[in-house]
Amino acid sequence: MTSRTRVYLFLLLGLPLTMQAQSPEPSKAVQEFIRVRAPRIVLTHVRVIDGTGGPAQEDRNVVIVGSKIAAIEAGADVAMTDGTSVLDLHGYSLMPGIVGMHNHLFYIARPNLNGDRKYEEPLLAPQMTFTAARLYLAGGVTTMRTTGSVETYADLNLKRDIDAGKLPGPHIDVTGPYLEGSESHFIQMPHLNTPEDARQLVEYWADRGVTSFKAYMNITRAELKAAIDAAHKRGIKVTGHLCSVTYKEAAELGIDDLEHGFFVNTELDSGKKPDVCSQSEGDETLARMDPDGSEAKTLIATLVSHHVAITSTLPVFEQYSGGGRPPVRQRVLEAMTPQAREDFFLLRQQAQPTSPPKFDSILLWKRDLVLERAFAAAGGLLLSGPDPTGNGDVLPGFGDQRGIELLVEAGFSPAEAIRIATLNGAIYLGREKEIGSVAVGKSADLVVIKGNPAKLISDIENVEVVFKDGIGYDSQRLSNSVRGRYGQY
Ligand SMILES: [Zn+2]
Repeated sequence: MTSRTRVYLFLLLGLPLTMQAQSPEPSKAVQEFIRVRAPRIVLTHVRVIDGTGGPAQEDRNVVIVGSKIAAIEAGADVAMTDGTSVLDLHGYSLMPGIVGMHNHLFYIARPNLNGDRKYEEPLLAPQMTFTAARLYLAGGVTTMRTTGSVETYADLNLKRDIDAGKLPGPHIDVTGPYLEGSESHFIQMPHLNTPEDARQLVEYWADRGVTSFKAYMNITRAELKAAIDAAHKRGIKVTGHLCSVTYKEAAELGIDDLEHGFFVNTELDSGKKPDVCSQSEGDETLARMDPDGSEAKTLIATLVSHHVAITSTLPVFEQYSGGGRPPVRQRVLEAMTPQAREDFFLLRQQAQPTSPPKFDSILLWKRDLVLERAFAAAGGLLLSGPDPTGNGDVLPGFGDQRGIELLVEAGFSPAEAIRIATLNGAIYLGREKEIGSVAVGKSADLVVIKGNPAKLISDIENVEVVFKDGIGYDSQRLSNSVRGRYGQY
């Protein structure tokens, strides 16, 4: 050791804890959820599912120093010393924090919803700033994209307060207000009339700190193009839940990501007019698109060659996928207000309409699973997120876990499904050097899970501790703190 390194080491050790750690001192409100915090933390004898899709590594020690992963070594007993916390994790698994790519901070309220699934207009999207942030972190989500905002200032300020250590929650990529056309069911969305409107909206919100945008069902090609160009000028990506614009058109306009797997592509919908959403909103295209046919192959090749990611949102479609579904988890029901729970059961019980549906929903479900797999096999970047609003029954955090389970149902291995929900999201966000896998030098954004999700994917529901920037949060305490509140605030 040269004298220079000795001096350097001395200086490093001499730094106070607050300067070594990158994250600011947590407030009292955050501290109540912290279970593990120390300058150095050693997780011993843990199974590592590293997020790259490779096989799990048994019996490892993972060393966290400050906010980073400092070492991954062979499993060994380690003594507790001053400044070092040791967690014996025999029987536990460690995976990267989930990077949730369709994770809203609002709920959808349906006024006067009744047993026929009918409700009164307008649909409203109340903010879930309090409950959603806690449920995401409790569920293992350490980074999320809001994928369309309703109260954009609230989302931006929430991100600021979480980053400042004032409130508990994940890292947030705030998406701007929905880029929606002039015809819309949603009274809270901006309704664009011209490409100039789209450009102005993007520039206004990019100036205020928004880091992503989402186009919606009734946008025109010209408006979408204007939004994409304005966003790309600032290095900001654009995704879309589309209908008026087909997947192929959007890819050629330069969109970066498409939401909802292959459920909302409208290119084969009969009577589809340019720039106008079709009646089936994509069901007909999915029903007509043979995964082995030339249309599917051309579409996937177009998406891959234009580097367009696809976000899988299987949980929001699961209720249309036929029988044999697992019962709803008690903890999911307990998180909701009585009203949200009542609406949840009304929507769920009536999921199968009495008259024969135009398109067989079970066929659509199966076909989407095949197309998502084919897209990934062709080299496409598949992302994952639950869309926790859709039918009111997919909750933050819990829905992220369910999405990973359903990717396994689609035919991905558990390790591949975990990669889709972690490293792939990090790659899309351009943050794969810092987050998305369990690797030395990356942020200690990690999920401690009881059991072995590499073998039994449903073990992913058994989250115990969630590390964000090297601080371990208690999952149960976070979700208990919002019991009976989701659907209210
Ligand atoms: Zn959504």
